[in-house]
Amino acid sequence: MPSEFELIARYFTRPTTHTLLGAGDDGAIVQPSPGMELVVSTDMLVAGTHFLADTDPEALGWKTLAVNISDIAAMGARPRWALLAAALPTADEAWIAAYASGFFACASAFGVDLIGGDTTRGPMSFCVTIFGEVSPGRALLRSGAAPGDEIWVSGAPGRAALGLAHLQGRCALDEPTLGECLAALHRPQPRLALGLALQGLASAAIDVSDGLLADLGHILERSGVAATVHADRLPDAVARACPNDPGLARHCLLAGGDDYELVFTAP
Ligand code: ADP
Ligand code: MG
Repeated sequence: MPSEFELIARYFTRPTTHTLLGAGDDGAIVQPSPGMELVVSTDMLVAGTHFLADTDPEALGWKTLAVNISDIAAMGARPRWALLAAALPTADEAWIAAYASGFFACASAFGVDLIGGDTTRGPMSFCVTIFGEVSPGRALLRSGAAPGDEIWVSGAPGRAALGLAHLQGRCALDEPTLGECLAALHRPQPRLALGLALQGLASAAIDVSDGLLADLGHILERSGVAATVHADRLPDAVARACPNDPGLARHCLLAGGDDYELVFTAP
């Protein structure tokens, strides 16, 4: 069985593009772009809580990093560096190789260097710490919404929850809807370009990890405002995907998590 060091060298060490010293020493060295602010965030995925133990490892590797990039996108920042702390129950090399390929596919798609981490034996969990950059004072906060602002949401929220409902036998989706919903669940696409484009336009932003209303609620609370949501004006993709169960569709749309769309407010 390979040692921890062999596993790290084999699967979690790849060339970096914008890092002075990457994984392999006691610490990594990075040089932020001149004048930029750093945005730092961390997010953890635990087996049984955030994913099922039999989840496809390649998709899980993608999602581990994608949910962290989503937080950076929701700040209107550009992701740059990440650290990965992994607890693994066994050294199943085929599994780790697939996980790493999904992780690095996401890293290269969004311009992130993996610069280090920690690897230990234990109940499966993955924790990423991510660093992004934003121009001074330009980050999108939850606290900037003002009375009279409009509320916007990207994409088609609710698809990830609907895909999960299908997997759990609570509905039966047709192709190609099923494919779209499972892609939203397993391979979420962080809204990085949108977050960057919203600098100077949005008054507040958040990514939808817990559900549209719950996450909008965080903006309202931090901004000290209330809101009226016109549910009939939200994207209706989920309702069309699930015509036989409008109650489930509505629940997925308003309360389904895991989509990583952006909710933002703007004058
Ligand atoms: P230390 O004992 O000093 O904490 P480690 O043995 O934990 O060092 O890590 C050795 C090197 O491998 C470090 O540079 C660390 O950042 C890197 N590393 C460990 N685990 C991972 C991982 N899962 N992904 C990327 N780099 C890792
Ligand atoms: Mg260590």
